[in-house]
Amino acid sequence: MPETSRVTSTIAAIPYRCAAHGNCAAVDEELFPLDEDGFTAIDERGRQVPPEKMDAARQAVAACPMLALYFVEDSSERAAGTANDK
Ligand code: SF4
Repeated sequence: MPETSRVTSTIAAIPYRCAAHGNCAAVDEELFPLDEDGFTAIDERGRQVPPEKMDAARQAVAACPMLALYFVEDSSERAAGTANDK
């Protein structure tokens, strides 16, 4: 492949929106662990999504009724795109 994409998939959550429905963990409990009270253990710092888990990540984001989950753009990609900002 001549061109490499640096897009890294990271999933993050807005913890106060989480209402412990558990839909995300039902899709993939390894990718979307819950704490002991059933709330998502993911926060704004996010976690990397392995390429093979991308479908599960998309499903879980769509399955969250509280819109607590979201994808984060890779910062190196954004930095490259804004290199001329002053
Ligand atoms: S599906 Fe949404 S509301 Fe339910 S546990 Fe996961 S993040 Fe929280």
